[in-house]
Amino acid sequence: MADCIFCRIIAGKIPGDFVYQDDRAVVIRDINPQAPKHLLVMPKEHIASLVQTGSGQRDLLGHLIHVANEVARSEGLSERGYRVAVNCGREGGQLVPHIHFHVLGGRQLSGSLG
Ligand code: AMP
Ligand code: ZN
Repeated sequence: MADCIFCRIIAGKIPGDFVYQDDRAVVIRDINPQAPKHLLVMPKEHIASLVQTGSGQRDLLGHLIHVANEVARSEGLSERGYRVAVNCGREGGQLVPHIHFHVLGGRQLSGSLG
Protein backbone atom coordinates (compact mmCIF):
# COMPACT_ATOMS: atom_id res chain seq x y z
CA MET A 1 0.00 0.00 0.00
CA ALA A 2 1.88 3.03 -1.30
CA ASP A 3 0.19 5.51 1.02
CA CYS A 4 0.45 3.43 4.21
CA ILE A 5 3.11 4.75 6.60
CA PHE A 6 3.90 1.31 8.05
CA CYS A 7 4.14 -0.28 4.56
CA ARG A 8 6.56 2.53 3.65
CA ILE A 9 8.68 1.80 6.74
CA ILE A 10 8.63 -1.96 6.01
CA ALA A 11 9.71 -1.25 2.40
CA GLY A 12 12.59 0.93 3.63
CA LYS A 13 11.18 4.05 1.99
CA ILE A 14 11.09 5.98 5.26
CA PRO A 15 13.18 5.27 8.37
CA GLY A 16 12.06 2.98 11.13
CA ASP A 17 13.85 1.80 14.27
CA PHE A 18 13.70 -1.95 13.63
CA VAL A 19 13.98 -4.35 16.57
CA TYR A 20 13.08 -7.63 14.82
CA GLN A 21 12.22 -8.95 11.36
CA ASP A 22 11.26 -12.31 9.90
CA ASP A 23 9.49 -13.46 6.75
CA ARG A 24 6.05 -12.36 7.98
CA ALA A 25 6.52 -9.81 10.75
CA VAL A 26 8.49 -6.74 11.76
CA VAL A 27 8.86 -4.94 15.07
CA ILE A 28 9.73 -1.24 15.29
CA ARG A 29 10.01 1.19 18.18
CA ASP A 30 7.08 3.59 18.48
CA ILE A 31 8.07 7.12 17.47
CA ASN A 32 6.02 8.58 20.34
CA PRO A 33 6.59 6.09 23.17
CA GLN A 34 3.99 5.88 25.94
CA ALA A 35 6.31 3.85 28.19
CA PRO A 36 10.09 3.31 28.47
CA LYS A 37 9.64 0.37 26.09
CA HIS A 38 7.02 0.81 23.38
CA LEU A 39 7.23 -1.54 20.41
CA LEU A 40 4.90 -2.09 17.47
CA VAL A 41 4.54 -5.63 16.12
CA MET A 42 3.03 -5.80 12.64
CA PRO A 43 2.73 -8.07 9.62
CA LYS A 44 4.71 -7.25 6.48
CA GLU A 45 1.48 -7.80 4.57
CA HIS A 46 -0.87 -4.82 4.57
CA ILE A 47 -3.97 -5.64 6.62
CA ALA A 48 -5.84 -2.53 7.69
CA SER A 49 -7.21 -3.64 11.03
CA LEU A 50 -8.07 -6.56 13.29
CA VAL A 51 -11.63 -6.32 12.02
CA GLN A 52 -10.36 -7.20 8.51
CA THR A 53 -9.01 -10.56 9.69
CA GLY A 54 -10.74 -13.93 9.65
CA SER A 55 -9.91 -17.60 9.80
CA GLY A 56 -7.35 -17.13 7.00
CA GLN A 57 -5.24 -14.97 9.31
CA ARG A 58 -5.31 -17.22 12.38
CA ASP A 59 -1.73 -18.43 11.93
CA LEU A 60 -0.48 -14.92 11.25
CA LEU A 61 -2.24 -13.49 14.31
CA GLY A 62 -0.80 -16.27 16.46
CA HIS A 63 2.63 -15.55 15.03
CA LEU A 64 2.33 -11.84 15.82
CA ILE A 65 1.45 -12.60 19.47
CA HIS A 66 4.36 -15.03 19.62
CA VAL A 67 6.71 -12.35 18.24
CA ALA A 68 5.33 -9.81 20.75
CA ASN A 69 6.16 -12.22 23.56
CA GLU A 70 9.66 -12.89 22.19
CA VAL A 71 10.58 -9.21 21.75
CA ALA A 72 9.20 -8.44 25.22
CA ARG A 73 11.57 -11.10 26.50
CA SER A 74 14.55 -9.75 24.53
CA GLU A 75 13.76 -6.21 25.77
CA GLY A 76 13.92 -7.47 29.35
CA LEU A 77 10.20 -7.13 30.13
CA SER A 78 9.29 -10.73 30.91
CA GLU A 79 9.94 -10.71 34.62
CA ARG A 80 8.21 -7.44 35.55
CA GLY A 81 5.43 -7.75 32.98
CA TYR A 82 4.16 -5.79 30.03
CA ARG A 83 1.01 -5.10 28.03
CA VAL A 84 0.07 -6.16 24.51
CA ALA A 85 -2.72 -4.02 23.06
CA VAL A 86 -4.48 -3.72 19.72
CA ASN A 87 -6.50 -0.66 18.81
CA CYS A 88 -9.17 -1.50 16.28
CA GLY A 89 -11.05 1.08 14.24
CA ARG A 90 -12.10 4.64 15.03
CA GLU A 91 -13.66 4.15 18.46
CA GLY A 92 -10.90 1.72 19.34
CA GLY A 93 -8.41 4.56 18.94
CA GLN A 94 -6.61 3.16 15.89
CA LEU A 95 -4.74 5.96 14.08
CA VAL A 96 -2.58 3.99 11.62
CA PRO A 97 -4.62 1.66 9.39
CA HIS A 98 -2.06 -1.18 9.21
CA ILE A 99 -2.72 -3.77 11.94
CA HIS A 100 -0.21 -3.64 14.78
CA PHE A 101 0.16 -4.89 18.34
CA HIS A 102 1.53 -2.42 20.87
CA VAL A 103 4.00 -3.89 23.39
CA LEU A 104 4.34 -1.55 26.37
CA GLY A 105 6.50 -1.96 29.43
CA GLY A 106 9.24 -0.65 31.64
CA ARG A 107 6.94 1.20 34.04
CA GLN A 108 3.86 0.39 36.12
CA LEU A 109 0.94 0.60 33.70
CA SER A 110 -2.46 1.64 34.98
CA GLY A 111 -5.13 -1.00 35.40
CA SER A 112 -7.54 1.03 33.31
CA LEU A 113 -7.96 0.32 29.61
CA GLY A 114 -10.26 3.26 28.94
P1 AMP B 1 -2.68 3.30 16.85
O1 AMP B 1 -3.31 4.49 17.48
O2 AMP B 1 -2.95 2.02 17.55
O3 AMP B 1 -2.96 3.24 15.35
O4 AMP B 1 -1.11 3.52 17.03
C1 AMP B 1 -0.29 4.07 16.05
C2 AMP B 1 1.06 4.22 16.67
O5 AMP B 1 2.01 4.42 15.63
C3 AMP B 1 1.18 5.43 17.61
O6 AMP B 1 1.59 4.97 18.90
C4 AMP B 1 2.24 6.30 16.94
O7 AMP B 1 3.09 6.95 17.86
C5 AMP B 1 2.98 5.29 16.09
N1 AMP B 1 3.64 5.85 14.92
C6 AMP B 1 3.12 6.69 14.00
N2 AMP B 1 4.02 6.96 13.03
C7 AMP B 1 5.13 6.24 13.35
C8 AMP B 1 6.41 6.09 12.73
N3 AMP B 1 6.74 6.74 11.61
N4 AMP B 1 7.32 5.28 13.33
C9 AMP B 1 7.00 4.63 14.49
N5 AMP B 1 5.81 4.73 15.10
C10 AMP B 1 4.89 5.53 14.53
ZN1 ZN C 1 0.34 -0.97 5.33
